[in-house]
Amino acid sequence: MAKAVHATSQLEWDTPLYQQARTQLEHALAFAEVPDFVATRLRHPEQAVILTLPVQLDDGAYEMFPAYRVKHSSVLGPTKGGIRYDLAVDLGECAALAMWMTWKCALLRLPYGGAKGGVRCNARELSMAELARITRRFTAELAPFIGPQLDIPAPDMATNEQTMAWMMDTYSMQKGYAVPEIVTGKPVSLGGSLFRHEATGAGVVMVIERACERLGWDLAAQRCVVQGFGNVGGIAASELFAKGASVIGVSDISGGVYASDGLDVPALHAYVTEHGSLEGLETGVTRITNEELLELECDVLAVAAREDQITGANAGNLRCRLLAEGANGPTTIDGDRILAERGIPVLPDILTNAGGVTVSYFEWVQDLGRLFWDRDEIRRRLSEKMADAFDRVWDVAQERGIRLRDAALVAAIREVSAALEARGIYP
Ligand code: NAD
Repeated sequence: MAKAVHATSQLEWDTPLYQQARTQLEHALAFAEVPDFVATRLRHPEQAVILTLPVQLDDGAYEMFPAYRVKHSSVLGPTKGGIRYDLAVDLGECAALAMWMTWKCALLRLPYGGAKGGVRCNARELSMAELARITRRFTAELAPFIGPQLDIPAPDMATNEQTMAWMMDTYSMQKGYAVPEIVTGKPVSLGGSLFRHEATGAGVVMVIERACERLGWDLAAQRCVVQGFGNVGGIAASELFAKGASVIGVSDISGGVYASDGLDVPALHAYVTEHGSLEGLETGVTRITNEELLELECDVLAVAAREDQITGANAGNLRCRLLAEGANGPTTIDGDRILAERGIPVLPDILTNAGGVTVSYFEWVQDLGRLFWDRDEIRRRLSEKMADAFDRVWDVAQERGIRLRDAALVAAIREVSAALEARGIYP
């Protein structure tokens, strides 16, 4: 009988979202055929940093902002993952997202492990000056835990190129010299990569297009719906539009817009640039709720807003033929089970939205080499990487008779396992 020397249940990050990531892992482990010690290591994050950031608001008052950074695995290299600003940020969310980053990097064969971090705040209500102070304080406190060979942050929900510029500057000021390779998703003027801004959304559409080819569909003939009109969803909608697909519905936090014969996506972008969101847009569209948007009859539904959107409550009502996960963790375990029962294929997040981290990797490589590539070269390299990963996932799914999500996880876990088996567990 095993000795009772440990207790690894009910750990601090064990929230519903982390359990979702764990349940997916356990499911895939049944097919991955990896040694027990590998599974034992990968069930838990390696490191978690919890901070409270005292930051002065514009009215002079000080407020405390909880902040986190979680590293799931450093087996394949430095850890990599976004920083999000959102009221739902907690340790469990960061741990789940960090685990997904490990699988994503491994699946794309990038020399990274997974991390994720964030600040619990309402970015929409904070001024630029307040956001700058939060970001600089966060970076200064994170400085011992991040580094170009240690952990490399990137943007995520409600963070952007400007956030990365503040992070790069704060870190560089402490070092005494410019360290562009400390973050990715920076402005091009600071060593950011061309095409990084478009990479995740463009990658989503590269995966949808390849899936359509395998399914014998012509992308240009598909009716598509996109939830989320930010970095991922906004670009994905533009790419679908540019490829001739009909984008019949999009939404953001303010609700959705619908046009049965296709929306004018460039006009939507112009509106959002002027007004900050889709709120108030009425001309040439029918206003719908986010719930209605998800249940529109369409060929391809791309969910690119946030986690937990397709659940046990609405998965039975979806009327798409293919679901593409642009966001991280948009489908709950219950939602996933119902989609499987209904035979709706799901292009899983760790494959579908991996374009961002892939071009982040290109950015880091360019920064380290101080040698920059042009846009066409980056797009070509991204397309090759996405196609290679897609084909490996598709082949595993066919060979093993398993769903694409399980196939993607199996392929990813095996990459990490091969490295961990070779390295062994120290000491
Ligand atoms: P973003 O902040 O740029 O955009 C998010 C969009 O979703 C906004 O339009 C927002 O209004 C909308 N939204 C938020 N809550 C919503 C809701 N309940 N219903 C409908 N719309 C809602 O963020 P992003 O960078 O586009 O990230 C979106 C998702 O993609 C997140 O899950 C993120 O983790 C994931 N992701 C992002 C990247 C990247 O490179 N930006 C890479 C991989 C994965």
